[in-house]
Amino acid sequence: MIACLDLEGVLIPEVWIAFAEKTGIEKLRLTTRDIPDYDELMRGRLEILDENNLKLSDIQEVIGGLTPLPGAVEFLQWLQSEFEVIILSDTFYEFAGPLMAQLGNPTLFCHSLVVDPDGKITDYRLRITDGKTKAVRAIKNLNFQVIAAGDSYNDTGMLKEANAGILYCPPDNVIEEFPQFKVTRNYVEFKEALITTREALLKPSNL
Ligand SMILES: [Mg+2]
Repeated sequence: MIACLDLEGVLIPEVWIAFAEKTGIEKLRLTTRDIPDYDELMRGRLEILDENNLKLSDIQEVIGGLTPLPGAVEFLQWLQSEFEVIILSDTFYEFAGPLMAQLGNPTLFCHSLVVDPDGKITDYRLRITDGKTKAVRAIKNLNFQVIAAGDSYNDTGMLKEANAGILYCPPDNVIEEFPQFKVTRNYVEFKEALITTREALLKPSNL
């Protein structure tokens, strides 16, 4: 059985919110929690970066000062002792490095940025559209069972595609829209939900 886990909001802080706080640019606080259309969200972010002459290095500097959420390192260690774990994220490899090192470098599938020689982010490249959902589908096709977990709109596709989905610290609007998923609000509840979900999936009637 494989656990597919979102990254931001589950193991690490939201990078764009941290960057918004650092720069004081309020509009950069918007995330997939606010704007479900990822392309619309990213185009808006790149426009704001351009208007403010902010470069990749400015964002990397802020990320360099971030740490995983309290308890995340221990939670992930536990998760890796119980499941095969793949992190499925809509972040970019150019952002994730320092935080992934603090998490012990788990397997990460995410996207990449297009950066010009001056360090300006000119575009972004999705590995594939709806990558989280397609990754879960592909893993299931390898004859694994998948439990997927995340906090936001961009996770609901993979949660639906997985054999079981769990929400971790989601906003109220996601809970209301997706009442079929179990909601957990701290790592203790999250661990319990993962264990009971695995037990349910391993019942002979589900195999
Ligand atoms: Mg998230």
